[in-house]
Amino acid sequence: MTDQDRRNFTGRVGQVKEVTSLSNPIIKDIKALTNKKDREETGTFLAEGLKLVIDAVELGWAIRTLVYAKAAKGKPLVEQVAAKTIARGGLVLEVSEKVLSSVTRRDNPQMVVGIFEHQWKRLSDLKPASGETFVALDRVRDPGNLGTIIRTADAAGASGVILVGECTDPFSLETVRATMGSVFALPIYRATAEEFLRWSKGSGAQVVATHLAGAVDYRTIDYRPKPTVLLMGNEQSGLPETLARAADRLARIPQQGRADSLNLAVATAVMLFEARRHLLTLETK
Ligand code: SAM
Repeated sequence: MTDQDRRNFTGRVGQVKEVTSLSNPIIKDIKALTNKKDREETGTFLAEGLKLVIDAVELGWAIRTLVYAKAAKGKPLVEQVAAKTIARGGLVLEVSEKVLSSVTRRDNPQMVVGIFEHQWKRLSDLKPASGETFVALDRVRDPGNLGTIIRTADAAGASGVILVGECTDPFSLETVRATMGSVFALPIYRATAEEFLRWSKGSGAQVVATHLAGAVDYRTIDYRPKPTVLLMGNEQSGLPETLARAADRLARIPQQGRADSLNLAVATAVMLFEARRHLLTLETK
C-alpha cells in the first residue's frame, strides 16, 4: 500500500460500512446483479475472489463497491484493495459471512467480492493486425462454455472475443467464475450477425468458420499472414448458412468414435492452439 493509499483508507474509515442484515438495501441491489436486466441497467457486474479483484483493479477496471467478510478485516491485501476502492470513489462494505453467502449464492463464499463497471468494446473500432487471432461465437448459450472459451482464448494469446447474435452474458456470475479472471484480460465485442458480416468483410481478417461439414482439415489452414477470426457455431444448431457461407474457410476437426461433435469450448480450444502453434512455428522460421 502506498502512503497515499494508506492515508485514503485510514483517513476515511467511516466510508467502510458494516452490514449484517440481509435486508440492507445496498445488499439487495448487489444481489439483484444476478439478474441480467439489473446488470444491464446499472452497467455493473459481480466478481468473486481477492486475487481476481486485485488483478481487475490493477488492470484499470472501475470498481464501484468492494465487499469483504469480517474475517478478512486487517489482511494487508484486503486493506490495500479497500484503500484503492475508496481512493477511486468506490464504496467498501464489511459484511457477515451470511451476507456474503447470500450475495454469491454459495455456502462457502470467497472472502472478497467486487462490483465492477462493464466494459463492452465496439466492433466497429476493431482493426485486427497481422498475427492476431480472435474468437467469434455465434449465439453461445452456455455460461460455462463462454467462460471457458474466454479463459482459453486468454491462455492461447488471442486478442479478443466477439459475441455474435443473442449470446449468454459474459458478465453473469457463472461466466465470470468460469473465466477465472480472464474476463478482465480480454476485450469483449458484441454484434448482430449482420454487423459481424459487414465488419468482417472490411476488416482485412480471414474468417475461419468451424463446421461439422467443413471441407478443410483445420490442420491444413494457413493462419497467417492475415489476422484470423475463428468463427464457432451455436451448441445446438451449429453455424447458420448465412455465417458459414461468408467465411473464407470452412474447417473441420476430424473425429473418431461415436460422438457426432465436440463440445463448443473444446472445439474452440483445439482451434485456438492450432492457430497459435502455427503462428509460433512461422515466427521461429
Ligand atoms: N449439432 C451441432 C451441429 O450440427 O453443428 C453441433 C454443434 S457443436 C456442439 C458446436 C460448435 O463447435 C460447432 O458449430 C462448431 O463450430 C464446433 N465444432 C464441434 N465439433 C466440431 C468438429 N468436429 N469440427 C468442426 N467444428 C466443430
